[in-house]
Amino acid sequence: MDDKLSRAIEKRRDDLIALTRDLIRFPTINPPGEAYTPCAEFLAKRLQLIGFETQLIRGEGTPGDTDQYPRTNVVARFDGRTHGQTVHFNSHIDVVETGDGWTIDPFEGVVKNGKIYGRGACDMKGGLAASIIAAEAFIEVYPDFAGAIEISGTVDEESGGFGGVAYLASKGFFSKPRVDHVIIPEPLNKDRICLGHRGVWWAEIETKGEIAHGSMPFLGDCAIRHMGAVLEAFEKELFPALDNKQTSMPVVPDGARRSTMNINSIHGGQTDDYSGLPSPNVSDSCRLTIDRRFLLEEDIAEVKREVVSILDRLQWERPKFHYSIRDIMEVQPLMTERDRPIVTAVAEGIRSVFGREPQYVISPGTYDQKHIARIGLLHDCIAYGPGILDLAHRPDEYVGIEDMIESANVMALGLKVLLSRSA
Ligand SMILES: [Zn+2]
Repeated sequence: MDDKLSRAIEKRRDDLIALTRDLIRFPTINPPGEAYTPCAEFLAKRLQLIGFETQLIRGEGTPGDTDQYPRTNVVARFDGRTHGQTVHFNSHIDVVETGDGWTIDPFEGVVKNGKIYGRGACDMKGGLAASIIAAEAFIEVYPDFAGAIEISGTVDEESGGFGGVAYLASKGFFSKPRVDHVIIPEPLNKDRICLGHRGVWWAEIETKGEIAHGSMPFLGDCAIRHMGAVLEAFEKELFPALDNKQTSMPVVPDGARRSTMNINSIHGGQTDDYSGLPSPNVSDSCRLTIDRRFLLEEDIAEVKREVVSILDRLQWERPKFHYSIRDIMEVQPLMTERDRPIVTAVAEGIRSVFGREPQYVISPGTYDQKHIARIGLLHDCIAYGPGILDLAHRPDEYVGIEDMIESANVMALGLKVLLSRSA
């Protein structure tokens, strides 16, 4: 442990609590992208107080960006006295809708039994606050550090990150030489380092039929029945095959340590918009959205081929079976190597604070690291932050105050390792 650093953080305990509560009080719900600008302005002002230079950057023209709901991001930078490397803490400021089941006001920032409650407390305003306190404490204790610290609050992570990290990355904010190392304080638990995530392929499959009167289905061709055949083939062949594809990636939870696929939606037939009743027709179209999560060991071309080969076979087997398939989104799996400086620096912090080795994990779903790797071409990036992943997006979400303090210590120690030497 570094006593000076941990005292500087402890001294800021009340500040950390107040800052987290202040952030929770901005109802930055996405969609539609509520209160982004006031939240970004608040962060800019707060960081200016401790000497950061700040910029507000709007993700102009990105999905959802309107004058009513501008995609406002904040990027702040503090340059040390000598040249060195830059460490960037990136947090998303958007939160998901509250949903039902809350026993307290989700936007009040209630403090109870050592925890701060609210939508976004754990995912991830607690992590954002911890990174600010860590930077503040580090700058106070080591004012002569080499390099620079950046802190950003970005939007739209929960809807793909296009107006946030993807936009900033396209403007060079997540590339060398500006930035060398990135920590994303997502709630992955205070003693775990998240190295990356599985890959994603979203696609829409459509089966085609022929419309006819519902009383004489033999005159038409039902697209929904064709889709039934697709689902049956998936059940019999694809799902068991995916279950057998294990990975060496340390994905948590254990159930995600293999290939998975979800059927996100299915839609077929015409409905009457007014009454909600179906119209008496044979359906000529049925659409299915699949969400396939794949592994480092898999190739995306092969992932797609598995699905397409089933559809092609049905085209041979089933009379009048016609289909089309459309890609919606694809993200490659990512795993930062364990010997990267950002990993070894944060690991050293975890060893020092908790007296044990960190656990290295991979997230089942993607987060903004994908844009930093693909657009920014920066591979020295991890997710590390306080909060319990399982609480994210749930009612009565909270973050533990002690967990934030301990994480802030780990982050500050990481800064000390990375910024102690001139480049
Ligand atoms: Zn998050």
